[in-house]
Amino acid sequence: MRGIVWFRQDLRLADNAALVRACEECSEVIPVFICDDNLESMGRIGGASQVWLHSSLKSLASDLREKGSKLILKKGKALTVLEDLIASTQATHLYWNRCYEPSIRKRDEAIKTKLKASMKVQSFKGNLNFEPWEVLKKDETPYRVFTPYWKKSLLEERKPLPLPTPIDLKAMKSMPASLSLESLDLLPSHPIPDWHTPMMSRWNVGEKAALKTLNDFLKNNIASYKTQRDFPAVRATSTLSAHLHFGEISPVQIAHYTNAFAKGDSDHEAAAKAFLRQISWREFAYYLLFHFPHTLSQPLNKKFERFLWAQDYQDDLRKWQQGRTGFPIIDAGMRELWATGLMHNRVRMLVASFLTKNLLIPWQEGEAWFRDTLIDADLANNAMGWQWVAGTGVDAAPYFRIFNPRLQSKKFDKGGDYIRRWVPELAALDKKYIHEPTTEMSKECSYPLPMVDLKVTRQRALERYKDLKS
Ligand SMILES: Cc1cc2nc3c(=O)[nH]c(=O)nc-3n(C[C@H](O)[C@H](O)[C@H](O)COP(=O)(O)OP(=O)(O)OC[C@H]3O[C@@H](n4cnc5c(N)ncnc54)[C@H](O)[C@@H]3O)c2cc1C
Repeated sequence: MRGIVWFRQDLRLADNAALVRACEECSEVIPVFICDDNLESMGRIGGASQVWLHSSLKSLASDLREKGSKLILKKGKALTVLEDLIASTQATHLYWNRCYEPSIRKRDEAIKTKLKASMKVQSFKGNLNFEPWEVLKKDETPYRVFTPYWKKSLLEERKPLPLPTPIDLKAMKSMPASLSLESLDLLPSHPIPDWHTPMMSRWNVGEKAALKTLNDFLKNNIASYKTQRDFPAVRATSTLSAHLHFGEISPVQIAHYTNAFAKGDSDHEAAAKAFLRQISWREFAYYLLFHFPHTLSQPLNKKFERFLWAQDYQDDLRKWQQGRTGFPIIDAGMRELWATGLMHNRVRMLVASFLTKNLLIPWQEGEAWFRDTLIDADLANNAMGWQWVAGTGVDAAPYFRIFNPRLQSKKFDKGGDYIRRWVPELAALDKKYIHEPTTEMSKECSYPLPMVDLKVTRQRALERYKDLKS
């Protein structure tokens, strides 16, 4: 029997249910990745993520090669590519791990319906601890608020062991033809400006790198995760998000290795709980996407469809994107994003609040910019993060959640180290002024003056919110 394993957001060999089952059931296995450029969500993959995907596929291909197999790369409409491949290889089985984005689910359902008439098609849980339909309220409806969802999932907690990498990948003797990685066109077509080479020089990509990142984090940082994770100048978080997005590591592996590391030490156990709670936020994002698919681009709370956003905001949006708002912590975050493809979570909340509350720019604009520039851009996490900050329905806050960037900066970047790192023109300022340089200081440092009055714009946002409520 010959089987195809269709890799998607599970670019790893360990804890890969589809791969394990294929190697159990088939005598020959063909690993395939398809760049489905007809798919809406493929078109949604931003520039930074495409660059990461390029490296991730390279790494997966190399890991498969080491084990005597080969990654077959294809491009085109997934159903057509699969049908061609099935015809040319006489494959009788098809395996994949499930994805949850609405357009992917629709496509996968259509593929399953079409192909299962002539072959065995199986899908598996590969990217979540819980399937979205496994955690429901007593009345069988989905949660809209995180904490009760999290508590319920803790009650239901199972602790599965990660699946090992199959010893024999059952490589087909004469593998079908593959495209070259370059021909998938994932790297930017214009070499100038070269933004991606310096960005990627900061990251190690692939399954081995993901496991090393987790191990290093457990050894060096988890103990301080709970107390330090909100401070952007400190390297206290795991930086696993891009690895998780592309499935180079699974949440089951993360939970298992984290619990095993922490076991028996009460401080580590508390830290592990705080860390795994964030992994549950990721689960919750996928959960919301599954149950409320419209929230990718529309507010969860329909009332917000009537919210009065600003008009003609292109200049303001550009200042925000380029880190030229005149608010040092906001500019530091936006410049960190451009240089590294990542932004610290606390700062993501601040820049999102600034965009949606102080500038009144629709959250979808921020979501789109993040999607294009983040290496961990993830439709579920990104849309939920933006809706959470914008207050448009996810975990709605009673007081409309408006962060004051200066107060937050003084609290979470007290010494100004994060600002100094990313806004070098302010590096010489004393910590007393770095969060809020005087007009003279800003001029001397060639740093922009604040683009808005925080108090006035806060009041304006609150009034719009009140209007909406009434
Ligand atoms: C406006 C906004 C947009 C965001 N967009 C994305 C995105 O596109 N992709 C993305 O992966 N995360 C997103 N996040 C969530 C969070 O900022 C990142 O997951 C986190 O900063 C990644 O760093 P880390 O891996 O070191 O996190 P850690 O603190 O080490 O957390 C471990 C993992 O838990 C998950 N996680 C942590 N915090 C959150 C959270 N608040 N929501 C959902 N999952 C979480 C991530 O997978 C993360 O890798 C967004 C948050 C906001 C406020």
